[in-house]
Amino acid sequence: MYYKSTRNSSVNISAAQAIVQGISDDGGLFVPAEIPSITMDEIAALGDMTYAERAACIFSKFLTDFTDEELKYCTESAYNDKSFATADIAELSHLFDGTYVLELWHGPTCAFKDMALQILPYLLTTSLKKLGMNKKVVILIATSGDTGKAALEGFADVEGTSIMVFYPRDGVSAMQKRQMTTQDGGNVSVCALEGNFDDCQNGVKAIFTDEKVKKQLDEHGMMFSSANSINWGRLAPQIIYYISTYAELLKNNAVSKGEKINIVVPTGNFGNILAAYYSKRMGLPVNKLICASNANNVLTDFINTGVYDRNRSFYTTISPSMDILISSNLERLLYILSGENDAKIREWFGALSKTGRYEVDDSVKALISESFCAGYCDDKGTKEAVKSVYDKYSYTMDTHTAVAYKVYEDYKAKTGDNTKTVIASTASPYKFSASVLDAIDSSAVSDDEYAMVDKLCELSGYDIPKSLAELKGKAVRFDKVIGRTEMESFVLSSLGITE
Ligand SMILES: *Cc1c(COP(=O)(O)O)cnc(C)c1O
Repeated sequence: MYYKSTRNSSVNISAAQAIVQGISDDGGLFVPAEIPSITMDEIAALGDMTYAERAACIFSKFLTDFTDEELKYCTESAYNDKSFATADIAELSHLFDGTYVLELWHGPTCAFKDMALQILPYLLTTSLKKLGMNKKVVILIATSGDTGKAALEGFADVEGTSIMVFYPRDGVSAMQKRQMTTQDGGNVSVCALEGNFDDCQNGVKAIFTDEKVKKQLDEHGMMFSSANSINWGRLAPQIIYYISTYAELLKNNAVSKGEKINIVVPTGNFGNILAAYYSKRMGLPVNKLICASNANNVLTDFINTGVYDRNRSFYTTISPSMDILISSNLERLLYILSGENDAKIREWFGALSKTGRYEVDDSVKALISESFCAGYCDDKGTKEAVKSVYDKYSYTMDTHTAVAYKVYEDYKAKTGDNTKTVIASTASPYKFSASVLDAIDSSAVSDDEYAMVDKLCELSGYDIPKSLAELKGKAVRFDKVIGRTEMESFVLSSLGITE
């Protein structure tokens, strides 16, 4: 299996190279040259396997340059009950008749990013070894909250790697800040920036592409690599849980072989829902993929009209991990749907960076409507959804999952479609305690994060995740705040390259 670039179809590299490189030199994203298939018998057979075994089985179709031993090592190192609070890894909850919630947040940081970032370090270090590269890999991350912590947890003390995370000083939740500043590990550093998320991202990009810095790293036997969501090594692991879920439904006689399901995904960068689309293209019986956005509804408009236009107000919402106006992974979908037309992709994404807008062809629009539906929900609707699910089903959802739930309810009311449905749940409610409490019982909201965690425990009846409870008494290791111009010297001194 070879990988091409969405902006140059003649690129031809192995999975290991795609994972190490992260993004193509032409600015495009790596995609498999063809989408492998999976049969219903193969899916059914997954039912008797552990999650790690299911993962190895599906990865073997995409990472054909990895040996069975390598895949076994990567999947078993990542998906085990030391890292995840449930032996199922991804847990399926039955909400009500024909509707399931796929809880993707039982990993160490309580958000679905763990599903990919727990395995990425193993995929990356294995890829380096396969390519005969023995440099130390330096991962730089700009984060608005969830990605930074999940990457720290994934890379902490992984041999041959070092990780540095920058977050906007005033731009993350209290729990997210605590999670990052108390991080363990001999190869990690965390730093707050006086600025917003864009400043962090621009700073990281500037260091990443600075030839002088690259050369300094090289002289010290180091190189940069990326762990952000455009790396194929982050997308591939997300395909696993959709197929695994179907195997689980089959095993429990909740669906019959070949019966179609809907999948609803709360979406930001379009990574998670794109993984669901890949699983559909592989052969998973999927009726509709339902793309749920918050007030930043650029994807809703795109899917409904074929026009992508980021020239609009940006809203800070109570589902902050979806506050995004540029959905990078959409490029992969459009590459597939345009018939791998790299010239079209260069045209559309060139227009996006110049004018903030592009419009796809009618044929692509039609193909999008065949597979996808889209809707959005504002903060008010999000809170109402948390409350109504809590009251009706005694189930406590986080705000991102609630967006998906509300969009699904609207979809059902509009279409009357009663296909069995899986809603992807992307964060533990404890990660967004203040907003969840505000929805259920606003009198319990306070400045004291742990008082709110205790209250949420009382109301929901769910155990407080161990990893969040443990943070309470944990010492802060990283309290440095720097200005925008100091990022480069911070990186070089943290790596021991300069004083
Ligand atoms: C990152 C994130 C999302 C959005 O996922 P994409 O793959 O970017 O679409 C949704 N919910 C939570 C909690 C997240 O952390």
